Amino acid sequence: MSHDNRDPGPRRVGQVKEVTSLTNPIIKDIKALSQKKERDETRSFLAEGLKLVIDALELGWTIRTLVYAKAAKGKPQVEQVALKTVATGGLVLEVSEKVLSAITRRDNPQMVVGVFEQRYTHLRDVTPALGETYVALDRVRDPGNLGTIIRTADAAGASGVILIGETTDPFSLETVRATMGSVFAMPVIRAGVADFIKWQKAAGVQVVATHLAGAVDYRTIDYRRKPVVILMGNEQAGLPDELAKEATALARIPQQGRADSLNLAIATGIMLFEARRHLLTLDGKA
Ligand code: SAM
Repeated sequence: MSHDNRDPGPRRVGQVKEVTSLTNPIIKDIKALSQKKERDETRSFLAEGLKLVIDALELGWTIRTLVYAKAAKGKPQVEQVALKTVATGGLVLEVSEKVLSAITRRDNPQMVVGVFEQRYTHLRDVTPALGETYVALDRVRDPGNLGTIIRTADAAGASGVILIGETTDPFSLETVRATMGSVFAMPVIRAGVADFIKWQKAAGVQVVATHLAGAVDYRTIDYRRKPVVILMGNEQAGLPDELAKEATALARIPQQGRADSLNLAIATGIMLFEARRHLLTLDGKA
């Protein structure tokens, strides 16, 4: 009797495909999402964890593929997201832990991973109202910073994060991880410098730019007057003159000690919670 040891390919169990081979073409495509080029071309990205996937579906994000570990099979919440995925035309894969590790590049991977469609909000659709706060980031480079800022903006009740110029990818695995799910809750907008300046002039906002040479103490600004855009500079270079000169105010967070500056995400957090101080209460209602 001869044995054929080649991978027989995905096996259909109901509408779930079982996959154990790393060479399976679908798995190869999902693994390739660790590269920006592949994410851009397919306009998709990976999010890890059952809670994140549930939240994303509740918020109306489109899931293309749900991947879960064999060990998660039969769990009611996993079954529910699997049903939802199939109902919306997505693919469901049951895989070995080895496959999940390869997809997420982790030794102890989450049991559930989703491939979602990317979503950006267009700048022309952003019409800030009084009481709204946006964060604008000039050429943010570090995925951990961007993810932390998206998470912090969500926690502070901001309305969106505007990415100006060439920035790190908000949909990279590292950024999405650092957002802890807030990538699904916070609108992300991309803009060039010229478009951003044009927009800020027409949008009736006050742009509070942060700058190490800022003359205004950030605590003295009236954040209630107009919708607020907090503009933050690049990690290495700070804010360029072309953006700084168009701002309503150049604000500085006073420092002591030897550090030259604050980490970008920390500075953004301080600004956000000051700008929204009058709107934040312990019961979460403004
Ligand atoms: N070498 C850069 C420079 O000269 O601006 C340092 C940039 S800092 C790491 C990144 C960004 O965080 C700054 O562009 C600014 O937006 C913000 N930032 C950091 N510390 C700040 C402070 N004390 N006051 C205001 N903004 C600050």
